[in-house]
Amino acid sequence: MASIRELLAAGPTISFEFFPPKTDEAERQLEAAIRELEPLDPSFVSVTYGAGGSTRERTRDIVIGIERDTPLTAMAHLTCVGHRRDEVTSLLAEYQRGDVANILALGGDPPADDAVAEGDFAHALELVELVRASGPFSVGVAAHPEGHPRSADLASDRRHLAAKLTVADFGITQFFFEPDAYLRMIDDLAALGCDTPVIPGIMPVTNVGQIHRFAELSGAAFPARLAARLDEVAGDAASVRAIGVEVATEMCSRLLAEGVPGLHFYTLNRSTATRDIAANLGLVAT
Ligand SMILES: Cc1cc2nc3c(=O)[nH]c(=O)nc-3n(C[C@H](O)[C@H](O)[C@H](O)COP(=O)(O)OP(=O)(O)OC[C@H]3O[C@@H](n4cnc5c(N)ncnc54)[C@H](O)[C@@H]3O)c2cc1C
Repeated sequence: MASIRELLAAGPTISFEFFPPKTDEAERQLEAAIRELEPLDPSFVSVTYGAGGSTRERTRDIVIGIERDTPLTAMAHLTCVGHRRDEVTSLLAEYQRGDVANILALGGDPPADDAVAEGDFAHALELVELVRASGPFSVGVAAHPEGHPRSADLASDRRHLAAKLTVADFGITQFFFEPDAYLRMIDDLAALGCDTPVIPGIMPVTNVGQIHRFAELSGAAFPARLAARLDEVAGDAASVRAIGVEVATEMCSRLLAEGVPGLHFYTLNRSTATRDIAANLGLVAT
């Protein structure tokens, strides 16, 4: 059980994000992805959490299972909106008993309908403080290079982000497609006196429709030039993937040259694109 705080101090990390599967077939796909990505010797892997607790048990079981049954270090995502404090502290106690040292403390999206999420938390910062008080966890938070879609404006989003990062150990960003968006955010944070490491989140494009949808939800700008290149080959899955791998490789090279603390890949429970990018970058473990 390694702490991500210490892993980051030792040099650029490489990490992979998974989500809890809903069906037996999806479970087999996740197991295969983990097995195929393990030889890359990732610094850590993470498992997402359904906002409001919809995957509470599944996320917990997968994260604890990875720590127990594989040589990998695991991080549990945890959202707070809609939760009571005692629900969170009991889950944190289970993680501690399961030797899980790393928590990504998130707000989580409020319910899509007009229902107001009831619970003890308004923002992720309150969860960071509770995780800190609950045990010797290494705590990460979410960062949004282009601002969170619910923010009133970018300046207030940056101030809230700096306040949250100051009490956390590290941040991981929402995916983005323009390295300058990430670099501008780092400059803004430095100007606010915050130098907590923030790992860029990388989403390789493997499916045009899916990426347009995700970009819309996350507020990440999708560059017109990339969209045009992808739309030209939209019917040809292999060409889409090849462009996605090429573009992500270029972005990762630039970010590594800029001295980022690590690379966090949104794998969508598949291994191929991430393995290709890691190979292109020469990150394959020997
Ligand atoms: C790396 C990463 C992993 C993620 N994993 C998951 C996951 O597993 N499950 C899931 O459901 N979602 C996940 N998300 C999405 C995330 O939960 C949503 O984006 C959510 O809407 C906001 O989460 P946050 O942690 O940024 O919240 P917060 O930090 O609470 O920010 C949310 C909004 O509130 C504003 N704000 C913050 N503090 C204050 C304050 N004091 N006063 C006024 N406004 C404030 C912020 O500027 C922002 O606009 C992830 C996001 C990232 C980047």
